[in-house]
Amino acid sequence: MGIDYQSPTPTTLHTDVLIVGSGPIGAVYARNLVDAGHKVLMVDAGEQETKIPGAHKKNTTKGSLNQFSEIIQNDLIPLSSSSSSMPGAAATLAIGGMSTHWTCVTPAPHPTLEAPKLFTESQWKDLISDAQELLDTNSSTYDTSTRQNSLKNILNASGHDFKPTPLACKKDETGRIIYSSTSTILSHILASENFTLLPNHLCTNIHKQNGTITSASLTDLSTNTQKSVIAKQYILAAGAVLTPQILHNSGMNDELPALGKYLTERMVAFCQVRLDKKLSIDSGEVNIMEGVREGKKWVTVINREAHQYGQLEDSVDSGDVLDIRCMSVIEPNVENRVEFGEKGSDGMPTPSFTVAPSNDDLKLAAKMMTEMQSLATTLGKFITEPTMMPLGTALHLSGTTRAGKSAENSVVDANSKVWGFDNLYLGGCGVIAEGMACQPTLTAIGYALQGVESVKAAL
Ligand SMILES: Cc1cc2nc3c(=O)[nH]c(=O)nc-3n(C[C@H](O)[C@H](O)[C@H](O)COP(=O)(O)OP(=O)(O)OC[C@H]3O[C@@H](n4cnc5c(N)ncnc54)[C@H](O)[C@@H]3O)c2cc1C
Repeated sequence: MGIDYQSPTPTTLHTDVLIVGSGPIGAVYARNLVDAGHKVLMVDAGEQETKIPGAHKKNTTKGSLNQFSEIIQNDLIPLSSSSSSMPGAAATLAIGGMSTHWTCVTPAPHPTLEAPKLFTESQWKDLISDAQELLDTNSSTYDTSTRQNSLKNILNASGHDFKPTPLACKKDETGRIIYSSTSTILSHILASENFTLLPNHLCTNIHKQNGTITSASLTDLSTNTQKSVIAKQYILAAGAVLTPQILHNSGMNDELPALGKYLTERMVAFCQVRLDKKLSIDSGEVNIMEGVREGKKWVTVINREAHQYGQLEDSVDSGDVLDIRCMSVIEPNVENRVEFGEKGSDGMPTPSFTVAPSNDDLKLAAKMMTEMQSLATTLGKFITEPTMMPLGTALHLSGTTRAGKSAENSVVDANSKVWGFDNLYLGGCGVIAEGMACQPTLTAIGYALQGVESVKAAL
């Protein structure tokens, strides 16, 4: 057990490190700190929904893509209303967070157009390569698919640069794909005496004195009782909206002027096509991706995947259908933000979003849409017409606790340590300061791997 129950009151828990949030980022901190011999208490507001804590539900459930889409829809808790400027924003409250149903696309950010500017090229290369290793990221999952190879070649013949999508997964001895998630990262510390994982524990606020966090307050949601945690170091990894929510609830807005600001998110263009007969002769899964390049700051993924949207009608033969999903970015802008208002039923302040893409963001999204339509008509006929999805649909919200060089326009430093505090760290896509089109989780893990070294040094 990572906690010491010999505490002054029965409801005060002592540990070296408190980690709030058991998504992949909290898991990275936990694994590295336990490996280094520290006691870690990890709490999560959600339940443990799989036998192995934080397992990917694709590894534990059987069913069609439509059925997995329903699982995702049921798991996502909306964080805003349909009339908000970020209608798609949502969270997954469960041990494992969103990694219990994510799609595992884990590309490295483009080295000059997307990668964090706070690290040297070689520092970042090492961080990303360690992150890829942790998640079992590889680009060979569908290597034997002749359909994947032929479609890639056809598209690349007209000037594209599609490659097999880097996916966080591995195959077991039977060839079955095992998707990576929190459980992949935590697996070897789960049995450690130094690690304690408490589901159903909501962290409501943290308490501070002269630049030091002195304790954190928890509500045990299963008994509706209050607990206090005293730790040497505190790490909040509760997602890009709910991490700022805890800080706001702790009265830290004035100390952290950039909190919730510079919010970035992807603009998603989506359609589905039935492959032309002459292209559908080859067989196998398709999962290919084209990354960002100069003048084209969007990513395109062609595959057939379960998301919270994109289910096909039961009457549609899905065999030769492919999704095309393109994502550009709303570049960082101080005006785009999440703020917090009245308390909701969970006692936490309710998020509200003010987000508007700039003219440049919109122009780029229009170019992206045109290209998506051209790709679609090269491949076949529309099953689902091209659509710009509601903002927030990507669930890649970033920037709300961004890393930077000063407290004026960032919340944490390059080590993810909160400005002005000696024992408070933040993890998750919120720390990503750059406008990135590519999927963010691998990058957030890169930041966490840097941050954990600083926590270890402090301990
Ligand atoms: C359908 C879907 C597909 C996705 N596909 C991809 C993809 O292909 N590639 C990619 O890079 N990203 C993808 N993502 C996004 C990815 O899942 C997230 O970037 C990643 O999970 C973020 O990890 P995290 O640990 O920061 O936060 P989360 O996974 O959101 O975990 C945060 C945890 O904090 C807990 N929590 C929140 N508030 C509190 C509190 N006050 N007290 C205690 N606990 C709290 C929550 O219960 C949750 O478990 C996808 C997301 C979804 C939903």
